[in-house]
Amino acid sequence: MTHVITSLCLRDSGCVDVCPVECIVPGKPQEQYPLFYIDPDTCIDCGACIPECPFAAIFPADEVPSAYTARGGELLNQVGLTGHYEGRNHHGQLVSLHTTRPLAAGETVDLTPDIQANAAYFQGGPGYSAKD
Ligand code: SF4
Ligand code: SF4
Repeated sequence: MTHVITSLCLRDSGCVDVCPVECIVPGKPQEQYPLFYIDPDTCIDCGACIPECPFAAIFPADEVPSAYTARGGELLNQVGLTGHYEGRNHHGQLVSLHTTRPLAAGETVDLTPDIQANAAYFQGGPGYSAKD
């Protein structure tokens, strides 16, 4: 198994520092891979990253929701979306995204495609070996 970062990720980077096997990397190029990604072959399923995410974007692979129910106001971050987000990450650095949209309260979203997207990133994503 592995843990998976879903489209609720806004590149805060807080999870990266706590991973004992350093298997979380920022997607590059960001426009094509807007999330951070977990290497499924390296992740040891320790769960340390989950409480570090301010956006509750990380799940064990078998618990990624197929019908995530939005609280309202959280942002989905996916290629093809056009909303703009600017914020500060865990290290105080500017994060700028142009691939988001806000979720309405009660809206449901299937986050399970992110499982394959995570795996695919490590099977040839152009920036997969690059680390911040
Ligand atoms: S802490 Fe959450 S938002 Fe930040 S990079 Fe990790 S998964 Fe993404
Ligand atoms: S579950 Fe543990 S090993 Fe896997 S990505 Fe999270 S912190 Fe790293």
